[in-house]
Amino acid sequence: MPGQYRALQGFKDILPGEQPYWRFVENTVTAVADLYAYHRIDTPTLEETAVYRRTSGEGSDVVEKEMYSFDDRADKEGSRANLTMRPEGTAGVVRAYLEHGLYRLPQPVKLYYLSVPMFRREKPQAGRYREHHQFGCEALGVDDPAIDAEMIGLLYQVYTQLGLEDILLHLNSIGDRNCRPQYIEILKEYYRPLLNDCCQDCKTRFIKNPLRLLDCKEPQDQAKIAAAPKIAAYLCEPCREHFAAVQRLLAAYNVPWTLNPLLVRGLDYYTRTVFEFTSGIDKTALGGGGRYDGLAELLGGQPTPGIGFGAGVERIILELKRQNFAPPVEERPTAFVVYLGKAFELKDAAVQITAQLRRAGIKTDMSYGERSPKAQMKQANASGAAYAVIIGEAELAEDSITIKDLQAEGLDTEKKQVQVKRSALVSYLSCL
Ligand code: AMP
Repeated sequence: MPGQYRALQGFKDILPGEQPYWRFVENTVTAVADLYAYHRIDTPTLEETAVYRRTSGEGSDVVEKEMYSFDDRADKEGSRANLTMRPEGTAGVVRAYLEHGLYRLPQPVKLYYLSVPMFRREKPQAGRYREHHQFGCEALGVDDPAIDAEMIGLLYQVYTQLGLEDILLHLNSIGDRNCRPQYIEILKEYYRPLLNDCCQDCKTRFIKNPLRLLDCKEPQDQAKIAAAPKIAAYLCEPCREHFAAVQRLLAAYNVPWTLNPLLVRGLDYYTRTVFEFTSGIDKTALGGGGRYDGLAELLGGQPTPGIGFGAGVERIILELKRQNFAPPVEERPTAFVVYLGKAFELKDAAVQITAQLRRAGIKTDMSYGERSPKAQMKQANASGAAYAVIIGEAELAEDSITIKDLQAEGLDTEKKQVQVKRSALVSYLSCL
């Protein structure tokens, strides 16, 4: 019987069979982040809604339609906080940076987070969930274009070290508060006469977040997007210089990239460099980010430049599978303890031996639920263990143990089995 309840739509169980992929991704991210001298940070799943609302902006899809927000129960004073389940990683990390005075440390402060659940009430479909997981990096405190290049180089190294092929970086600059407003006016001028013929979402974007007009996926609006004025021509001198330096420095990281003048990213807080990695023929978005030099101020801090990215773990795993990549298999047990008989002394001895081997750092399992010796041996074989460690009446009487080699093919039983003293078991198995 499958039981009465199912996981919510857009939410997924990650069963043991999937875990080798997750472990592989997590180990690789940790190793690469460490290589680039980033330090791990974990922030809470719940934040005050304002943390996201103030930073991501009212015009973003995430804030407008997708956040899981709710009023908390009233506390003793009777006030209720409105809380939101983390939809993205950056705002919480910047909140923590300000709250804990990390700006007093030598800058940049380079941080990463790993397999963090993100909640967005999107329409579930292949590769799009309501709970997904991201790893990400944030470097706060400097606006040096070399750190933009480092950030992009780091993410690319994660993908290549995972063995992914066919990865492409899309790169753009969306200017800053000096030059972007002027560009947005020009973009609006261009769109104003076309609005009647635009999709409903674009009509809203025109008012709330005009830059996102360039992000529209509706076929009817593609020709308008293609002919729209591009921001590159309107960048101010400092933004232009910064972007040129990013491109120059990026060469050191050997990242295949293309200029994508339509890349604007979904969240309002980005400035200057924005980027996204895609893979495969369908150009799946694997991860992306950008510079957010105004974000700390939106959270009440001093002006603090920063850059970061968020990258989807589920998307990477789908891509690994699409590219027929098999993750490293989980280590098999060394020993599987089998007891031959119903006497409780035998079962007790099996439990003691199992515990002793585990204490000694030897990966060990045994069967539970009163199985026959034959069923236990079957389970020992199925577990992939290297050795069955067998205890029967004779062994118990002699204070010994029988070790059977489960992997040796073609040997007769005599050669597959040895009997050792119980006191010598750990050292015997450790030497094999
Ligand atoms: P974003 O913050 O929207 O740029 O997302 C960063 C990355 O997270 C994307 O490039 C995707 O790889 C992944 N991602 C975003 N939304 C989802 C989702 N709903 N389901 C699965 N992965 C997602």
